[in-house]
Amino acid sequence: MKAFEKNIRKVEPYVPGEQPQHKVIKLNTNENPYPPAPGVTRALEEMDTDRLRLYPDPTAGPLVEELARFYHVNPDQVFVGVGSDDVLSMCFLTFFNSEKPIYFPDITYSFYKVWADLYRIPYECQKLDENFRIVKEDYYKENGGVIFPNPNAPTAIYEELDVVEDIIAHNQDVIVIVDEAYVDFAGRSVLELIDKYENLIVVQTFSKARSMAGMRIGYAISNPMLIKYLNDAKYSFNSYTMNQTSLICGVEAVKDRAYFEAAVHKIIETREWAKGELAKLGFHYLDSSANFIFAMHPKYDAKELFEALKANNIYVRYWGSERIEQYMRITIGTREEMEALFDFLRKYMNR
Ligand SMILES: *Cc1c(COP(=O)(O)O)cnc(C)c1O
Repeated sequence: MKAFEKNIRKVEPYVPGEQPQHKVIKLNTNENPYPPAPGVTRALEEMDTDRLRLYPDPTAGPLVEELARFYHVNPDQVFVGVGSDDVLSMCFLTFFNSEKPIYFPDITYSFYKVWADLYRIPYECQKLDENFRIVKEDYYKENGGVIFPNPNAPTAIYEELDVVEDIIAHNQDVIVIVDEAYVDFAGRSVLELIDKYENLIVVQTFSKARSMAGMRIGYAISNPMLIKYLNDAKYSFNSYTMNQTSLICGVEAVKDRAYFEAAVHKIIETREWAKGELAKLGFHYLDSSANFIFAMHPKYDAKELFEALKANNIYVRYWGSERIEQYMRITIGTREEMEALFDFLRKYMNR
């Protein structure tokens, strides 16, 4: 080891799902199978590229205002970032500075652990129960902050608001972040509690329900004080996080509520049908409230199945980590993509 290496910040990075560059049935990273709202296409076609000479609005003003309108909050309650990964990372940096460990579930979005390591934040994972549910009492102990997704990933399980509220209420001396990347496919958002709890931050994204993973837009909604702290950290890091193109397209996406709701509705419909198809094939799965299903088959090894699917250009996600060795996560695609998946599975099982 070189002497200088001892002062290098070493981290074990997050491993994103594969983004193959050839055409596949892509059910591995929870993207939306439908295109973004038509207004987004129009905005791109009509975009004045001369505007790209200039720096974008550092406050992301128009997008912040459009989101504030959509969610019936004030603009000073909205923070926008480069995907919710950027927003979450900023939240870790800003709010998790205690000597005490932050808490998150043992089976959850694997980026939490990476940010905690990167920023040297102590953490402790709280075990989901045998049905992969959050045990709310585990979060009653003294800690440095709490974060969990609802619905959780990769389990797709949605905890009802009374459970989420109970965790927030028991942790009013620290910040509680609820990562709602998939809430549009689930049920009530914890946003309705934003005025009741000063320690609550809600994070959402354009990557899933809004079909814009490629644009990288995420946001946090909270009270003006916590949003101000987030902005102070952001302006100490990179003022111009949101690029001009994303800002314009983001506004168009939020404006079209009808299109957004229709796409979400189609995905939920396909999901409910897919649950039935999986059951017919003998799969066990956790009851999904997201745009993916976490499934396992008692007779077929998950890794082998994952490899066989991949060899046939059907990509799903597989981790092979503790407690979930036999599970695959299948993103809900279009009805046609799902038919192709089930055709393959039927053939595979009848070999
Ligand atoms: C997809 C996802 C995110 C990040 O999405 P961005 O594309 O960075 O907005 C955050 N949290 C969870 C749980 C996710 O699944």
